[in-house]
Amino acid sequence: MDHTLEQAKRLDAEDKLGPFRDKFIIPRKLPSPCIYFTGNSLGLQPVLTREYLNQELEAWADYGVEGHFLGRHPWFHYHKLFPEKIAKLVGAQVDEVVVMNTLTANLHFLMVSFYRPNSSRYRILTEGGNFPSDYYALETQAKFHGFDFEDAVLELFPREGEDHLRTEDILQAIMDCGDSLALVMMSGVNYYTGQKFQMEEITRTAHSVGALAGFDLAHAIGNVELKLHEWNVDFAVWCSYKYLNSGPGGPGGLYIHERHGNDPETPRFAGWWGHDEEERFQMKKGYIPMKGAPGWQLSNAQVFGMAAHLASLDLFEEAGIENLIDKSKKMIAFLNGLLENVNLSVNGNSFKVLTPEGVDDRGCQFSMVIEKNGKKVFEYLSKEGVVADWREPDVIRIAPVPFYNTFQDLYMFSQLFKKALEDVN
Ligand SMILES: *Cc1c(COP(=O)(O)O)cnc(C)c1O
Repeated sequence: MDHTLEQAKRLDAEDKLGPFRDKFIIPRKLPSPCIYFTGNSLGLQPVLTREYLNQELEAWADYGVEGHFLGRHPWFHYHKLFPEKIAKLVGAQVDEVVVMNTLTANLHFLMVSFYRPNSSRYRILTEGGNFPSDYYALETQAKFHGFDFEDAVLELFPREGEDHLRTEDILQAIMDCGDSLALVMMSGVNYYTGQKFQMEEITRTAHSVGALAGFDLAHAIGNVELKLHEWNVDFAVWCSYKYLNSGPGGPGGLYIHERHGNDPETPRFAGWWGHDEEERFQMKKGYIPMKGAPGWQLSNAQVFGMAAHLASLDLFEEAGIENLIDKSKKMIAFLNGLLENVNLSVNGNSFKVLTPEGVDDRGCQFSMVIEKNGKKVFEYLSKEGVVADWREPDVIRIAPVPFYNTFQDLYMFSQLFKKALEDVN
């Protein structure tokens, strides 16, 4: 395939998802033309969102408290609009998922259920360079149970001179922990390198030593194919404001495999929204959990955040996650070609793509290590309208999102990037 502007235009013209770009609002007050590559940090606002939010504001205005039972989407049942849509994105049974809280809160709640260490089995294995919030959760959970962070939480780093973890090394580390391992708690896709981990094999190996496996899908949901149920994953958590475009601080979600979810004896911290729906309003004592992940719900639905979430999930349904992933793979291949050309043709300031090349080891994110003057390159790009993300000391992250980015975005970016590498010195 050639990597020209003509080719980019051709790919855009052939792209069946092309019309979805107009269903999102490209930032209006940033330098233009805006090449928005931070959908991995905050997805863009769907045009529909305002309408969905307005609908609930209207229901509140029209009915007051009766809005719980009147209007188009009565709030009493609002949370039930989500599991079917979310289940498709994570590859779960409908009863295995629920939308609630935020990511870190959900991680803590699920560690209450699934990190129950004793004096011999207490270790947690995670990838080195995990997201700080996840570290803090693991650290304070370990301490809460009376363990020392350094001893309880094992971090895995790539081999000397390598940028990614090898799956074989992850599996070996699990085997080496053996009986001392309580939990593998990793990202689905690492936020920094963009490496996707082999969740099925990791889960199988964790189970083989008697441990459980949970994943943080912040950078995986809406980005890569997930089959949590089939992979036998024990639990997972995610947020909705990255690839799920549900707005800042949008509602998170969680998955619990049915073998745990349907067992009323699985320990949990409960609230009234997880209680048996039939008698929720009888205001009785004695907790009877709902079946499945709904039995972990605590509070009544946060309708406004969830309305924005719903608008975006409806777009996912319209586009089809498999079509989005398909386009994503085409974009990855095209950008890889463009970047190779850039690296061949710039003299001096070269860069390296940190994200694994294989399509099964990544999503749409590209993390690039800039050898010299990375920050200046980043600032140059920003001035030219590229919205990217800078990570100290030398990494630029970009995420071309199939919903609203175009092949021409990729082409224009490669030209600007080349200029930046040449001009900034
Ligand atoms: C974005 C992100 C979070 C954010 O957590 P919140 O509780 O939603 O603020 C946590 N972990 C990872 C890996 C993330 O990428």
